[in-house]
Amino acid sequence: MALSRKHRLFRSLAMGVLALLGIMVIKTLGYSSRQLAVPPVATFPVDPEVHERLASGLRFPTISLSPLDTQAFFALDTFLERNYPLADSLLQRTTFSELSTLLRWPGKTSALEPVLLLAHKDVVPPDSNSLDRWTFPPFSGKMSDQNIWGRGAIDDKGSLFAIMEAVETLLKEGYQPNRTLYFAFGHDEETGGSEGAAVMADWLKKQGIRFEYILDEGMLLVEDGGGVVDQPLAVIGIAEKGMLTLQLQVNTSGGHSSRPPQETAVGILAAAIQRLQNNPFPASLDGATRLMLDHIGRESAFPTKMVFANMWLTKKLVIGQLGQNPSTNAMIRTTIAPTIFKAGVKSNVLPATAEAHINFRILPGETPETVTQRVRSIINDPRITITADAMEDNTPPSPVSPIETLGFRVIEKTIREIFPGTVVAPGLVIAGTDSKHYTDLGRGTYRFLPLALTNDELSQFHGNDERISQEDYANMIRFYRQLILNSCK
Ligand SMILES: [Zn+2]
Repeated sequence: MALSRKHRLFRSLAMGVLALLGIMVIKTLGYSSRQLAVPPVATFPVDPEVHERLASGLRFPTISLSPLDTQAFFALDTFLERNYPLADSLLQRTTFSELSTLLRWPGKTSALEPVLLLAHKDVVPPDSNSLDRWTFPPFSGKMSDQNIWGRGAIDDKGSLFAIMEAVETLLKEGYQPNRTLYFAFGHDEETGGSEGAAVMADWLKKQGIRFEYILDEGMLLVEDGGGVVDQPLAVIGIAEKGMLTLQLQVNTSGGHSSRPPQETAVGILAAAIQRLQNNPFPASLDGATRLMLDHIGRESAFPTKMVFANMWLTKKLVIGQLGQNPSTNAMIRTTIAPTIFKAGVKSNVLPATAEAHINFRILPGETPETVTQRVRSIINDPRITITADAMEDNTPPSPVSPIETLGFRVIEKTIREIFPGTVVAPGLVIAGTDSKHYTDLGRGTYRFLPLALTNDELSQFHGNDERISQEDYANMIRFYRQLILNSCK
């Protein structure tokens, strides 16, 4: 009797598993590609002189340090005016805060909303402790074998110069766009854009200008498919995370280190940070990251495809996997990074004060206020004062731009034309870009740098030996040229 009951139980369990497997397989089979079918385009011949022009542009040390070397920025502007003479004479230029530039290329009709392309002139300072690790000095603008070397090659002068090359070439061909095109080149992106992008965006808003779409740097093309697909993978950022820096401070009576109390200022603060890190923000697979996984998952092979096709069942597993790696973890939750810890001046004196700064990168859906609230409740210690660091740029996350827009489709199509065989997906930018100042000016704000890098090459961003290959740079020019043509069809 007992045996047959066990047998029945086992049989219904087995049937349940089979049914579940059946559902998973059916879901996987119906999980079809979302990639645009695009006929190939002829490779546009790029003038060999473009590389030397970019190399020259990398020699201007437009470093985002205070005070700014304004002469370097003026010299770069003069260089751009001289080297792109048609753009200089045919496009309307407005200067903001002396160093940021807005160019307007009037279209044939005002019936179509304009498009705005962004890039920035400033570069981060090279790390003074590792200058000897550069093959060529960061501002020497060297050309070697296949590469153009220098700070700014990929972030973000490469993009700025590629846009100018594309515009100049089209002007030379006598091309006139259907819709008006704007190009905004900020001078302080690396320090938040408050004097450049913010001022230009404000001015555009006051003019009542609305854009069909806006494109900035942000994500790029990973040659090795990010480990999920076999093809190269291009991610178009449709949102970016916000930022908040909280300052934590403890004040105690201090005293001699020979008779320390049970709890010291350093100990109290260290324990608070430990509590924070032991309670990470909840993970979320919504919005931009969900869309990214959905686009990529459809292109992946079995059994990965089965996992993505059945997120109703595998969501926890996927979150667990993404949480293992710092880059993917940052795509699914607000992150906590203690960056400054200050206390004490002498080894035998208990500091009366200890202070820490914690940098949070906020996931869309949360706000600086909700993050602060959560931090207060986790720390839950009245001896610690928690305030937003007013010196830092505290920004809420951007809105999430739709993907059913002309802008997204045009960028997607252009990627598939210039980089054939590439899988295109929307996604979340985990850092900040100038585009955050423009988001309410367009139907959609997208962040994509048309540059193909391997996973290893990603370390060049803000790192040593920043460089771009001549072939990659030529493709950037081809991309922007084709993007302008596609936007005006
Ligand atoms: Zn940048």
